[in-house]
Amino acid sequence: MERKLTCIVCPLGCQLTVQLNGREVEKVEGNTCPRGAEYAKNECTNPQRTVTSTVRCENGGLVSVKTDRPIPKEKMSECMQLINKAVAKLPVAIGDVILSDVFGSNVVATQNKT
Ligand code: SF4
Repeated sequence: MERKLTCIVCPLGCQLTVQLNGREVEKVEGNTCPRGAEYAKNECTNPQRTVTSTVRCENGGLVSVKTDRPIPKEKMSECMQLINKAVAKLPVAIGDVILSDVFGSNVVATQNKT
């Protein structure tokens, strides 16, 4: 089976063609550098994403957050449910952990709020 991907590792956006045998990556073409091959392999076998969102604050406002590392793509919906239920205690500083141990990542603040 063949799969077409756009590499998102750098702004060049190389068009990748991946030859798959089941879930196994046999060949990657179109990558300008080794990072593209690595991206294609991960995307086809264990796709991951960084989640960005907002968490409600105890005063009714919102604070922007993100996972501090990518989580499995298949867990994004569950991650968003946890984020939607969370309430941040003020004050919040950039980097503060709002939710810990969410599918191997922490959800951290990306802005200051008082
Ligand atoms: S293959 Fe390399 S050069 Fe091409 S988009 Fe990916 S990281 Fe950038």
